[in-house]
Amino acid sequence: MTREPILQQPAEFKDDDRDLRPQHMQEMVGQREVYARLEIAVDAASKRDEPLGHILFDGPPGLGKTTFAMCIPRDLGVRFQIASGAALAAPKDLIPYLTNAEQRSVLFIDEIHRMPNAVEEFLYPAMEDFRIDLTLGDGVNARTINMQLKPFTLIGATTRTGLLSAPLRDRFQLREHLDFYSTDELSEIVRRNAVKLQVEIDGEAAREIAVRSRGTPRVANNRLRWVRDYAVSRADGRASLKVTKDALAMQGIDPLGLDRQDRKYLKTLARVFGGGPAGVEAIAHTMNLAPDTLIDEVEPYLLRSELVVRTPRGRKMTPAALDHLGLGDVPPGSTSGQPNLFD
Ligand code: ADP
Repeated sequence: MTREPILQQPAEFKDDDRDLRPQHMQEMVGQREVYARLEIAVDAASKRDEPLGHILFDGPPGLGKTTFAMCIPRDLGVRFQIASGAALAAPKDLIPYLTNAEQRSVLFIDEIHRMPNAVEEFLYPAMEDFRIDLTLGDGVNARTINMQLKPFTLIGATTRTGLLSAPLRDRFQLREHLDFYSTDELSEIVRRNAVKLQVEIDGEAAREIAVRSRGTPRVANNRLRWVRDYAVSRADGRASLKVTKDALAMQGIDPLGLDRQDRKYLKTLARVFGGGPAGVEAIAHTMNLAPDTLIDEVEPYLLRSELVVRTPRGRKMTPAALDHLGLGDVPPGSTSGQPNLFD
C-alpha cells in the first residue's frame, strides 16, 4: 500500500531500537488520543494529496516521539530525513535538509529546542511559506535572495516545550504531548517485543518488567533485553517471574522501577538537603551530573510518581519517598539510621 520511504539521516543518528521500533502508527501501543488525531491528519493529507501540517511532539525521553515521527512518513508513503537540533549550529547546516525536501516529504528534527535562535528564525519562512531567505556577500554588496522550497512537513520533538520560543511553537499546526504509559500498555509492549526478541516470557514476568519500567517503553525494552540475556545465561532461556525478578534485582532496579540513579537522587535530597526544598542545580552539582540530565531523565518520573514535588523554593521529597527508602521514621537530614545511602 505504502512505498518504503527513503531515509536520509546524519551519521550520528544510530537507531539502536530499530529491531523493536513499531513501523506504522497502527502498531504503536497506547497514546490512543494522540494516535486518533494523527491518524485523521495523515488520512486527510493523503486524500487531499497535500503536505501534512507541521507537528511538534513533546514529553520525556523514551515515550515514542521518534517512533511517531518515523511512522508518519511511512504511513504517508513519503520520504523522510532526520536531523538533530544539537547538530544544527548555523542556518547553513539546515539548508541541505530544506533544499532536499521533496513535495510532501517529512523532515524530522529531534531535540528541536537545542537549535540556536538564528537557526530557528531561518526556519520560520521555510515552515510558513516554504521559502528561505539567503544572504549572499556582505557589506554594501550583500543581497538577499529568496529560494522557494517544495511544500514539506516538519516534525519536531522536544523534551522541553518550555525552551521553545513562542513563534516557533505557534508555527506547528499540531502539538502533541506524550505521557507515561500504563502498566497494561507496557505489559503489551513487553509481550510483543519478547516475540521479536525470541524470548519466551511468562505473563506475570512481562507485567513485572512493565511495573518496573518507569512508565517508559524505552526502559521496558532495555529491561526486557537484560532479562533475556540473564535468562539465557543463568537459566534455561525462559523468562519466568523468578528469573525476571532476579535479573532486575541484579541491576539494582527496585520494585517501583527506580534504578540506582533515581535512588541516588532521592538519597542526596534526603541526606544533603534534609529532604528539601533544594534547587535542581544544587542537587545536580552534588550528584556530579548535568542539571539537564536530571530535569529530562530523572525527575519526570519521580514527580509523576509523587516521590518528589516541585515547590517555589525547589524540589522536596514526599513521605512516600522516605518510606520507599526505608527512612520513613527518620527525620530527613539526620544521618543516624541511614546506612548505605549511596549504594
Ligand atoms: P523518544 O523519541 O520519545 O525518546 P522513542 O520513539 O525513541 O522515544 O521510543 C523508544 C523506544 O520505545 C522505541 O524504539 C520503541 O521500541 C518503543 N516505543 C515507544 N513508543 C512506543 C509505543 N507507543 N508502542 C510500542 N513501542 C514503543
